[in-house]
Amino acid sequence: MNHDGNDYQRISRRVALSGAAAALGAVAISTAVPQAAAQQKISQADATYQGTPKGGQHCDGCANFQPPNACKFVQGNVSPSGWCQLFTPKS
Ligand code: SF4
Repeated sequence: MNHDGNDYQRISRRVALSGAAAALGAVAISTAVPQAAAQQKISQADATYQGTPKGGQHCDGCANFQPPNACKFVQGNVSPSGWCQLFTPKS
C-alpha cells in the first residue's frame, strides 16, 4: 500500500534532476555567450573598411582602434590611417 508514496518519490526525484539540468544549461549559456561576443568581428568588406582616411576620420582617432594595427570589431590588420563605417571618435 505504499505504492503511491514510491511514485511520488520517483516523480519528485525526476523533477529535482531536471531542475539541476536546467541550472547547468543556464550556466553553460551564460559563460558561452560573452566569449562568443568578445571573439566576434566582422570582415573588412562588411565594415566597408578602406586603407585610407575618410574626411578627417581615421582608425588612429577611433575608439575601437587597438594599436598598432588591430580593431575591436573588424577582422585582420587595420591601418592607423584606415577607416570604416564603424568609426567612433575617441572621447
Ligand atoms: S575606423 Fe573602423 S576599422 Fe578603424 S578602428 Fe574604427 S572601427 Fe576599427
